Amino acid sequence: MSPSPRTSPVDLVFTLQQEIAVLAERPDVREALEWFAGNEAQFTRWQLDLARIPAPPFGESDRAAWVAEKFRSLGLKKLRRDEVGNVLGLRTGTQDSAISISAHLDTVFPAGTLLNSRQQGPRLYGPGISDNAAGVTALLAVAAACQEFALPHEASVLFIGNVGEEGEGDLRGMRHVYFESPWKDVIRASVVIDGAGSDTIVAEALGSRRFEIAFHGPGGHSWSDFGAPSPIAALAHAIHLFSQTRVPTSPKTTFNVGVIEGGTSVNSIPESARMRVDIRSTSALEIERLELELRRAVEQAVEQEDSGSRRGNGSQRHAGLKAEIRAIGSRPAGELPRNARTLRVARAVDAHLGNTAQIQRASTDANIPLSLGREAIALGAGGSGGGAHTLQEWFDITGRELALKRILLIVLQLAGTPYGAAK
Ligand SMILES: [Zn+2]
Repeated sequence: MSPSPRTSPVDLVFTLQQEIAVLAERPDVREALEWFAGNEAQFTRWQLDLARIPAPPFGESDRAAWVAEKFRSLGLKKLRRDEVGNVLGLRTGTQDSAISISAHLDTVFPAGTLLNSRQQGPRLYGPGISDNAAGVTALLAVAAACQEFALPHEASVLFIGNVGEEGEGDLRGMRHVYFESPWKDVIRASVVIDGAGSDTIVAEALGSRRFEIAFHGPGGHSWSDFGAPSPIAALAHAIHLFSQTRVPTSPKTTFNVGVIEGGTSVNSIPESARMRVDIRSTSALEIERLELELRRAVEQAVEQEDSGSRRGNGSQRHAGLKAEIRAIGSRPAGELPRNARTLRVARAVDAHLGNTAQIQRASTDANIPLSLGREAIALGAGGSGGGAHTLQEWFDITGRELALKRILLIVLQLAGTPYGAAK
């Protein structure tokens, strides 16, 4: 039995570009897009209020509570604070799958930092005002537009204010969503909002691994115990050996010894020394290789210093020098194939809006889904910004609505919207 023939607009073969144009011209979507420009005062207020709530790494709960309350007032359902502190809220679609839109709640600023966010003309100032109070504000603005105009979508849209993006937070919020949460297999694509601007699409995840390496020895007096192995000498030797590691320019691969410390006084053989090392590459294989080189350099330096062979006393007697290598961060690399739907949708939306954007590689919450071969991009929250991770951070609201339109269209197109006249 053959299905009865029917005609509907979807029988026409639309290009993605045409689909975006049809979506943007739906009366309800058009109204929502126009609504953004008239509500800047509200967005500014949210952003200033949010940036005044401390959210140091591992201390995001006050900010999470504020965001949860906003999610509630914007009509999001299935509100939840999960085990690691992420805030989740849902707009239910007609299908079982979901598109996530997320912004990290945490800042790099330690507890006790004066969060004096304020406005001067079009500029907002304050620690974290752009990274990522702007991102969270965009999340709220999109949720508000969806509620105000009852925008329909086929996939559900999952709003996430997540913890743990910065530094030693090590993407733990996003990791939880993709490894532990009930959403892990449901999310079809992730849109991450981070920082200011509308001129980039982060579709490539810069991977990194970070280590703290501690050297311990017996210590002693610089005169009477001369010949005892020195943790500082071993550390210096390890850096020397590791620095000779060759790295390719493509895939771009880098390493850095960013912190060294150790010892107590000029006439003491130190008992300990430590360093922090950062390894980055666009290639997961290169990261593996560099980690191996680092471990080899440390092992060799300890062996030589401990046996005395480096000081030429020839005793070969091991005196108890040790090194401990502790991973303090691991951000997996990955990238979105050029023909991935999420990237094509973002490109088509930019073309529709007349927006020029470059594809970029960066380390963001999108690293987690990208490293799993899942679809994800990171976008800016509009306007412009500067001084990220400093007390002089600023955000200029001018042109914010372009990014909000862009984000809304991308999310709706990814979720899928029924064609035809709206309400
Ligand atoms: Zn950020």
